[in-house]
Amino acid sequence: MSAVTREQFDAVMVPNYAPGKIIPVRGKGSRIWDQAEREYIDFAGGIAVSALGHAHPKLVAALTEQGQKLWHLSNVMTNEPAIELAQKLTELTFADKVYFCNSGAEANEAALKLARRHAYLNVGPEKHEIISTLQSFHGRTLFTVSVGGQAKYKEGFEPTPGGISHVPYNDLDAMAAAISDKTAAVIIEPIQGEGGITPAVEGYLQGLRELCDQHGALLIFDEIQSGVGRTGSLYAYQRYGVTPDILTTAKALGGGFPIGAMLTTDAVAPSLGFGTHGSTYGGNPLACSVSLAVLDVLTNDGVLDGVAAKSKRYFDGLKRINEQYKVFKDIRGMGLLIGCELIDERKGQAKDLNALALEEGLLCLVAGPDVLRLAPALNIPDADIDEGLARLEKAVARFVG
Ligand code: PLP
Repeated sequence: MSAVTREQFDAVMVPNYAPGKIIPVRGKGSRIWDQAEREYIDFAGGIAVSALGHAHPKLVAALTEQGQKLWHLSNVMTNEPAIELAQKLTELTFADKVYFCNSGAEANEAALKLARRHAYLNVGPEKHEIISTLQSFHGRTLFTVSVGGQAKYKEGFEPTPGGISHVPYNDLDAMAAAISDKTAAVIIEPIQGEGGITPAVEGYLQGLRELCDQHGALLIFDEIQSGVGRTGSLYAYQRYGVTPDILTTAKALGGGFPIGAMLTTDAVAPSLGFGTHGSTYGGNPLACSVSLAVLDVLTNDGVLDGVAAKSKRYFDGLKRINEQYKVFKDIRGMGLLIGCELIDERKGQAKDLNALALEEGLLCLVAGPDVLRLAPALNIPDADIDEGLARLEKAVARFVG
């Protein structure tokens, strides 16, 4: 047993997180083990990051191979993996140009800055407004918490940047009333993640596209949680058939190695000209090598094609559990991003169910106070889904009992 304990976390860490009671030390596929060698099934996927599970051999190989060659140069030099990854992302998506960074918040920061600068250069400084949605989450930098639609993340950090407004999600009339020729961009998650796993309804994204076109505003899709295969398509916009001007991606893009990217078009990219934005680590060769391997496995090893069947297995299993215990009022989501909303009598107790699941040997997540969230690896074996659901059922039985 290691000398490091969970209690030490509270002694030496800033208290902005409250991690679970165990310390995982290793993982393989969709199973992890803690310091005491207790094994857990992973339905959390590192918050929709570990899309290929833990220690995938092809990702380990990519990381160790690049690790022997070249770790870092910064942006004063380019590198082969970065160019190859940008090329691959442009082939697989609508995008013509890519900007690399290290996290989701940074990708959104870049997207929002690009949108403002694009409007500034093409129209003028009065066209700077950004419209976002209530309950949205776009990251924790000051700009991204300001754009995010959850007041709790802004509290005490004011004054926040101005020119930002919020309208209800999935409400096209509200957006039509808010948008104007002063709008630089509309930013939207095709599926709200942190806000409770709420997919865009039929016609909503198309409607936003039309409104943006009418007012010369850019449409930004934040696919940091919904992207990289989570819905069964590489990006959710491809399922919806609506193309943004800017797309942000991170989380699963590195399969666990930190990387973020902002994708955009030839028409918009020039507004982020030389010297206007940057990041020391963005496009790091280690991160880009791992990400190339992630995309290769996702698209060439049948992982994307398997998401729909695994999603059905989850939904069927969750519905079966709910038929017996009637604890969820809604089970929703897309692909392998699933939210189980607790019944009204159990409001605010998602974290309690999550803690019970951990005790039963299962890692899950919450999305707000009322929703148990599952974001497993996209290649999770069916046997692990079944075993994990059996553990969840035990947790639910204790929760209601
Ligand atoms: N945008 C969305 C939709 C997210 O789900 C998240 C993280 O949960 C972020 C942005 C922020 O990403 P990061 O934590 O990598 O900065």
